[in-house]
Amino acid sequence: MKKKILVLFLLSTMILGGCSTQKITDSSSQKEEAQEAKNQDISEESTDGEVDESQEASKDVFAMDTYMTVTAYGSHGEEAVEKAVTEIERLDGLLSTGEESSEIAQVNANGGGTLGKDASYLVERALEFGKSTGGAFDIAIYPIMKEWGFTTGDFKVPSKETLDGLLEKTKLSDVVFDKETSTISFKTDGMAIDLGGIAKGYTSTRIMDIYRECGVKSGLVNLGGNVQALGTKTDGSKWRVAIQGVEDDDSYLGVLSISDKAVITSGGYERYFEQDGVTYHHIIDPTTGYPADSGLMSVSIISKDGFLSDALSTACFVMGLENGMKYAREQNVEAIFVTTDQKVYVTKGIRKNFRIQVDAYELEK
Ligand code: AMP
Ligand code: MG
Repeated sequence: MKKKILVLFLLSTMILGGCSTQKITDSSSQKEEAQEAKNQDISEESTDGEVDESQEASKDVFAMDTYMTVTAYGSHGEEAVEKAVTEIERLDGLLSTGEESSEIAQVNANGGGTLGKDASYLVERALEFGKSTGGAFDIAIYPIMKEWGFTTGDFKVPSKETLDGLLEKTKLSDVVFDKETSTISFKTDGMAIDLGGIAKGYTSTRIMDIYRECGVKSGLVNLGGNVQALGTKTDGSKWRVAIQGVEDDDSYLGVLSISDKAVITSGGYERYFEQDGVTYHHIIDPTTGYPADSGLMSVSIISKDGFLSDALSTACFVMGLENGMKYAREQNVEAIFVTTDQKVYVTKGIRKNFRIQVDAYELEK
């Protein structure tokens, strides 16, 4: 699984990273170039003292269980990238359920507590999305994630009785959050929250804020294939984002051109295990406790707000094509839905900016 994430990351780095136009033809040479670009960590100083707005600063980090790259251009790029990495590490330390000392792990261990600014914002908005998605987006899903072994990698298929019992501990209406005091508590013992469906999108939006504060006009962040971009590339052209293709395939199914947007994808192929020939993935349907079986392979949501894109990609994956598409339209975001039978549905607003790369995929009208 790690390998798959890395491959996508390299591809995305290649497509997004270069300022030069690049033909997408030979994937092996692309990967080499991507690796080269990744290792270079370019930070050229202009020799005559003039500000070179195409000057690139870039760093790789492993956080939130994934490989990340932060890149910023211009004279403030290096400072912005340093600050972005510090912010990623800070948020990882706050929001990770696996880190015993994190704010969220403490809340889970103590059955409640007082949240800081970031977690408080996340919980409040997540609960709103929980309501507006009719419960498809459910941050109280943690006891079920744990039972499947997604929190530790020690995977197992729980019995239906176990899952039915745990569903009693995943009800959003049993999460009590007071926004005046930022305190959270649970009505049932053993309840716990998991911000894994929104943490990366929130992080990428925070990084855009940092870039702006630093005076950066062009930059991007790639959090394990989830991308958010500030402005355009330094030559004024749009960023090109790869949308991953079929399972166990290093290819990508299409390329989307964007500026000033987050492109966040939820896919059943991102984290999964197999038992007795059945694949079980990490996006859970809160009505059953089983991995969502909605006929979708992935959902990508495109909007200005990384948090919104992240919450909606997870929610729409659970909701399925029809309900998810309807909900995405209501929320005024653009979307790419890929079904398990390899059909691709793209909202009107981005159709002219999306190109299918792989013959096996069919673009629905
Ligand atoms: P994403 O990759 O953004 O779709 O997030 C998937 C992660 O969100 C999982 O690894 C869980 O931590 C969490 N999650 C799983 N199912 C749900 C759900 N129905 N609602 C909210 N979060 C979920
Ligand atoms: Mg998500």
